[in-house]
Amino acid sequence: MAIYTLPELPYDYSALAPVISPEIIELHHDKHHAAYVKGANDTLEQLAEARDKDQWGSINGLEKNLAFHLSGHILHSIYWTNMTGDGGGEPLDKDGVGELAGAIAESFGSFAKFKAQLTKAAATTQGSGWGVLAYEPVSGRLIVEQVYDHQGNVGQGSVPILVFDAWEHAFYLQYKNQKVDFIDAMWAVVNWQDVSARYLAAKEKGSAIILAP
Ligand code: MN
Repeated sequence: MAIYTLPELPYDYSALAPVISPEIIELHHDKHHAAYVKGANDTLEQLAEARDKDQWGSINGLEKNLAFHLSGHILHSIYWTNMTGDGGGEPLDKDGVGELAGAIAESFGSFAKFKAQLTKAAATTQGSGWGVLAYEPVSGRLIVEQVYDHQGNVGQGSVPILVFDAWEHAFYLQYKNQKVDFIDAMWAVVNWQDVSARYLAAKEKGSAIILAP
């Protein structure tokens, strides 16, 4: 039985146009994200088989595959809900996200500085990767991470709350080689209510983490 399942999109394929075309959303969700879900489930089955047979010759590859596909599934699941056709602007302009707006200002100096850092981090990924706003539970602050593939270059324990997919499959059909234009446009569809809900949940759960007795 499949452990991981592909979540349904919270909107139709055309909901984010013109920032992201319906064709990209359909391919990205139905093909790319679906492949990560299948990859994570297949890898779990292969690991179970390895345990059953006590055959560990492929353990390195299997663990790498699990990290890649599982992280791909998690980041894309966050990505879809991070966006809305009714989004954009700054969190301060939105109802009910004042605490998030305050945390951004405290962690980055201002919303403008945060926006610049996340934009640059996402737009300058080399190869495939993501720009991520994450809650870092040890300091209780927000940080930006430049993630390689889906799983590299992350601080252990950090919780992604706003993710920009900077893989070519996220934009190439529409923006061609202009990754910077795509990342700039992404800000117009950010769902700040979703980011805020993720921030509050991470903060509540993160407070339970203890590094030293
Ligand atoms: Mn993607």
